[in-house]
Amino acid sequence: MVSHLVYAAAGSNLGDSTATLKQAVVLLGAEEGIEVTRASPVYSNPPVGPQDQPPFLNTVLELRTSLDARGLLDVFLTTELTFGRVRSEKWGPRTLDLDILFFGDEVIQEPGLTVPHPLAHERAFVLKPICDLNPHLVHPTAKCTVADLLTTVDDSSMRPVHGIVLVEAK
Ligand code: AMP
Repeated sequence: MVSHLVYAAAGSNLGDSTATLKQAVVLLGAEEGIEVTRASPVYSNPPVGPQDQPPFLNTVLELRTSLDARGLLDVFLTTELTFGRVRSEKWGPRTLDLDILFFGDEVIQEPGLTVPHPLAHERAFVLKPICDLNPHLVHPTAKCTVADLLTTVDDSSMRPVHGIVLVEAK
């Protein structure tokens, strides 16, 4: 069975975000063809876009999956809906946001699916937690490591949130 190594961003800033992230990991891991292998620390971040909303909790999940990228995206969108996500304002508050950041070294540009995620290389709240997991990961189009990319962004407003275990260490 083909097993793709995937890095996915998970974020929440509505409701009990800690509980949401924990439950999302459980739900994703219960899906056929998905194993959540590791999770980065959770970080608190000021909102991107409109500032009149709560800070986000963000993490990056490492997955192994036999699904293709489109199949994984479908699972992500369904999982977001499970948590009551309503798409309204761009960059507005959300109970759960799941994005495919990297899908192996695949480069995909299709309607509704862009991989690597087009903003992955410029968002500190994505780059720092990926670096916690795999700093040597090479961005397949930027052709440099995520550690290199992290040096180009400002991560000074990110705060680690201690005591949240999303995936037990094996
Ligand atoms: P948002 O949740 O606001 O980031 O946007 C989600 C929409 O972006 C979905 O409807 C997807 O079809 C689309 N999309 C495109 N590329 C990706 C990706 N790499 N990961 C997640 N959603 C994506």
